[in-house]
Amino acid sequence: MFSYRHAFHAGNHADVLKHFVLIQLLKYLNQKDVAYSYIDTHAGAGVYALDSAQATKTAEFETGIAPLWERDDLPAPLAEYVQVIKDMNPSGKMRYYPGSPYCADIVAREQDRLRLFELHPADAKLLDENFRKLEQHAAAQGKRPATRGKRVIVNRADGFVGLKALLPPPSRRALVLCDPPYEDKQDYRKVMDMLNEALKRFPGGTYAVWYPLLQRIEARNFAERMKHLPAASWLNVTLCVSTPGPDGIALHTSGMFIVNPPYTLEPMLKQVMPYLVKVLGRDAGAKFTLESGEAATARKGGARS
Ligand code: SAM
Repeated sequence: MFSYRHAFHAGNHADVLKHFVLIQLLKYLNQKDVAYSYIDTHAGAGVYALDSAQATKTAEFETGIAPLWERDDLPAPLAEYVQVIKDMNPSGKMRYYPGSPYCADIVAREQDRLRLFELHPADAKLLDENFRKLEQHAAAQGKRPATRGKRVIVNRADGFVGLKALLPPPSRRALVLCDPPYEDKQDYRKVMDMLNEALKRFPGGTYAVWYPLLQRIEARNFAERMKHLPAASWLNVTLCVSTPGPDGIALHTSGMFIVNPPYTLEPMLKQVMPYLVKVLGRDAGAKFTLESGEAATARKGGARS
């Protein structure tokens, strides 16, 4: 049950897509003063050392964040994402990579609330410790009073189950990130069940689901099924970095499916995704797709590559 550790994959091309989109979703929420909740149903450890034995084993970051690190022509939304990572590596050497909770902690404001679920005992402990250090560091710099237990809550619990108790959030503003391992094919069903329940309780929330495009049937149908959720609107963006190999095992394509996306997201992605394909693409099979729809009936969204 607990075989997945995100440390092996930190900073890969899928993390680039996920975290860059996440930061833009949070920045959109920041445009209004009213506080919001950021709920991470599968939070991971929060911070990853790229020189750890786990990260260097397959060095997936070398084909993810690394090609973006030294670029001086980044489109503004990607530059904002890379800046978050540069700020956590003040020596200039790319040593640490942020998980989704860290990205949220940096971008969300003092009045916002972070609710983080992580089931793996070791990663839940690391997440807790990482947030303890982050808060101490911020408090020492006078940036933020220690708000543990109020601003940030780490739950060692099942995020699929825990989400519903947090909806609707007090301020009626929330972004939910759902990023399970999908090693167990039941995760696809659990995401659908969770979203159906969440949309009943809080139809106005924004829900961002990361998913891998793998050979298994559950993965191939997944985005199509999410398009039929009872939601006002959706957006689906995928990034493919290479032609699928014959073994079908390596992760070459991942997607972010956003329920109730901000209207600014699609035009921004139209500008940024061709750049990501150019810089992260490894062969002629590299491409992106971007489509959107309204209500349960898809309006023509047209895939682009
Ligand atoms: N969201 C993280 C990020 O972007 O940095 C990465 C998360 S990783 C893909 C998935 C995490 O979900 C793993 O750390 C795993 O231990 C955890 N996990 C698996 N099943 C879970 C569940 N039912 N509830 C909460 N966490 C779970």
